[in-house]
Amino acid sequence: MSADTALMPIPGSADPVTVPRKAQPRSDGKVELVGLPREAIRAALEEAGLEPRQAKLRAKQIFHWIYNRGESDFTAMTDIAKAQSPWLAERFAITRPQVVEAQVSTDGTRKWLLRTHDGHEYEMVFIPDADRGTLCVSSQVGCTLNCTFCHTGTMKLVRNLEPAEIVGQVMLARDSLGEWPKLGEHGADGGYSQEGRMLTNIVMMGMGEPLYNFDNVRDSLKIVMDGDGLGLSKRRITLSTSGVVPMMARAGEEIGVNLAVSLHAVTKQVRDEIVPINRKYGIEQLLQACADYPGANNARRITFEYVMLKDKNDSDADARELVRLIKAYDLPAKVNLIPFNPWEGSAYLCSDPERIRSFSNIIFAAGISAPVRTPRGRDIDAACGQLKTAAEKKSRAQIDREAAVTAVDEPAS
Ligand code: SAH
Ligand code: SF4
Repeated sequence: MSADTALMPIPGSADPVTVPRKAQPRSDGKVELVGLPREAIRAALEEAGLEPRQAKLRAKQIFHWIYNRGESDFTAMTDIAKAQSPWLAERFAITRPQVVEAQVSTDGTRKWLLRTHDGHEYEMVFIPDADRGTLCVSSQVGCTLNCTFCHTGTMKLVRNLEPAEIVGQVMLARDSLGEWPKLGEHGADGGYSQEGRMLTNIVMMGMGEPLYNFDNVRDSLKIVMDGDGLGLSKRRITLSTSGVVPMMARAGEEIGVNLAVSLHAVTKQVRDEIVPINRKYGIEQLLQACADYPGANNARRITFEYVMLKDKNDSDADARELVRLIKAYDLPAKVNLIPFNPWEGSAYLCSDPERIRSFSNIIFAAGISAPVRTPRGRDIDAACGQLKTAAEKKSRAQIDREAAVTAVDEPAS
């Protein structure tokens, strides 16, 4: 499993490329059903030997059990013939990402360190609020994009997460929150009712750039949105991109969830530096893609994320330029100001609270909403941009230890 990533080239920050790295097949040879849509489950059943009509019926039933009911034991699927369960269990798996560690912050935020079946680690965060609960889902192990203020961007190992690992995060969260619908609890459409639930919203804001793993993110979110699947409304799902312009229209057309854009700077010079993908797709191109984003309107605004970095992007002039740009492109927009979350070795400071207030006021005064995001889960490194797996931190510690040993080994002069 280590050979899988050891030779992987790290794309340059100015010209990042997608990482089509595939997961290794399961070592037990079974086919993982989590992450597959109905049609793929049907095809897998047929390939395993079921006759076509039966495969179609079973696929529909199994889809419902897996995603709508959270069942992973074939024998508990009551409408499937008892005699068939062992046959299914021999050939197919219904699994969750493995939990390496679960942490809870003093503010209630939870973070899970997860491991894929082929040994890659990634993280997922749950943020409870009074009126909602938001699951922050990862799309990749690490990220190729190297934004200078983001810890994830410093991870060396990168692989796209498979649909099983993306949908698996939402399913795992439902497991831990005990939120699978019980018998008789289904609405008229068999769907999932938000009423009284903790997990109400999903943001693709964990590790990775979701638009560099487009197919898997799309296929996963389709299952999450399916009324007979996980049943979350597209209005409660937000995808955040650092600005992969060529994929934005397709995201709107093929996924249709809310869009958030990591803008973070209003001049070419600063954005080139802190969000290096800007060297490839500049601010004007990005804002034009936002203006063209299918489904954005005054009821469903695009969120511009803006991390507040002291003396870097936080002046009143920056705020005024942000307003000018939003108006110039006539964007149905809101701005989300994110106080910078520091991490060990980061090169920035967070703007002072008065600076953030002044920045926010200028935007509000122009009629654009610009709330300041409250940092959550900082004590367990779960806040925006702090995600970097323990395994990677360990390897860093290892490097430090080795350096110390080398220093000790140096002959004294
Ligand atoms: N890769 C995607 C989504 C994940 S990051 C993207 O960049 O949009 C979610 C948000 O947290 C992004 O706006 C990101 O720029 C921001 N962020 C990254 N590092 C941060 C940090 N150290 N402090 C505050 N926000 C940060
Ligand atoms: Fe990747 Fe987003 Fe972090 Fe940039 S901010 S390095 S795109 S995860």
